[in-house]
Amino acid sequence: MPYPIDETHDPSLRSWVDSANDPDTDFPIQNLPLCAFRVDGGRPGRVGTRIGDQLLDLAMVEDLLGTPTLLHHGEDRLFESGLSGLLRQPRLAWSNVRRTLVRLLTDRAQAEKLRPALLPECDAQLLLTHPVGDYTDFYASVYHATNVGSMFRPDNALLPNYKWLPVGYHGRASSIVPSGTPITRPRGQQSPADDGGSPTFAPCKMLDYELEIGVIIARGNDLGRPIPMSEAEHHILGLCLLNDWSARDVQKWEYQPLGPFLAKNFATTVSPYIVTMEALAPFRAPAMERPPGDPQPLGHLDCPANRSAGGFDITLEVHLASSQMRDRGLGPVRLSKGNFRDMYWTVAQMIAHHTSNGCNLQPGDLLGSGTVSGPTRDSRGCLLELTWDGDPFAHPPLIKPGSARTPIALPTGETRTFLQDGDEVTIKGYCQRSGFRRIGFGQCRGVITPAHP
Ligand code: CA
Repeated sequence: MPYPIDETHDPSLRSWVDSANDPDTDFPIQNLPLCAFRVDGGRPGRVGTRIGDQLLDLAMVEDLLGTPTLLHHGEDRLFESGLSGLLRQPRLAWSNVRRTLVRLLTDRAQAEKLRPALLPECDAQLLLTHPVGDYTDFYASVYHATNVGSMFRPDNALLPNYKWLPVGYHGRASSIVPSGTPITRPRGQQSPADDGGSPTFAPCKMLDYELEIGVIIARGNDLGRPIPMSEAEHHILGLCLLNDWSARDVQKWEYQPLGPFLAKNFATTVSPYIVTMEALAPFRAPAMERPPGDPQPLGHLDCPANRSAGGFDITLEVHLASSQMRDRGLGPVRLSKGNFRDMYWTVAQMIAHHTSNGCNLQPGDLLGSGTVSGPTRDSRGCLLELTWDGDPFAHPPLIKPGSARTPIALPTGETRTFLQDGDEVTIKGYCQRSGFRRIGFGQCRGVITPAHP
């Protein structure tokens, strides 16, 4: 594999940043995710890594260590202008920086020198890690696709292309927002009633989240030159959490024949940290084993390394707190718990397919995985599925029309079929494996605010 397990994953490593040694932290020294932040309205776009409850300013580390340092790559300073310096580098630049940072952050003799580059995370405002040029969203969970397909096409849930290629659409980069940004309920056209008449234009009544993983592209490819499966992972910097907010009533009316448009492009929230491919090395998993009778992927979407370790073992949870719950001091309720290893298509297959016609990916591009749903009801990654009464994976399968729904009960006595104003949705993700330190992704959070009058 391009990202081996090495001394930076040793579970016995301890940092002189004490909070990194807390067994429950998402950010032990084995993680070191990338982020961008600012303090008190100061210079935006400082690049940091998270260690325990602290941020380490990487440009300041370059300064404190003097030139040349191991944080440089050749003559280049990697972190003085956001992430763009790192994104331009050959793929092993971060592997080298990571090894250096692990040495510096475990060596007590460095503590005095480096402390000025640390600040508490709670004193910083976390930003988008970088300007995203292009954003593509996939549909790679067969469980999600089957559930949603069964609601609207009971006899024909999966279209014939689904098991041959990772379906996707080009999304909108301008409305990608960092975790914590309020989400304004969109307005949109909604279907006419069944007896005909005109559509209405009104605030969305079926507002939903979609639990997804985001993939950050590092190196791109030249226009006209596809990325083969065997090289696809060399082009990834890392992963984040992503919420593809969705207006289901708008989607239902607009999606044919060209796919999602205004139902999806009003906001996409991403978590503040890029958990790098290096940090994820111990948590790889085989690609999903295709059930008997399913076709094997065509040659350009297949390779042995992908079959054996193309997946990621990432546990993903969605939590909801209504404004009434928060006012009464009640904690959020967990709506679902799933795992990213349940995807039908891997990230490498998404990249190989995306570029198979010569389309060029560019540094900093974002790919969404599509809603991460699993085979059980409590692993469904959006309310459209969670509150639906059907279950095509039950024995025997239970198919019900899309309108057959049971709302979710909240501890205040409120119920939810879709999101209400004031609702706060939080996605969490983490990796655990015996013999390794647990690492986490932090949070991807947003509160719904009322539609503009
Ligand atoms: Ca989506």
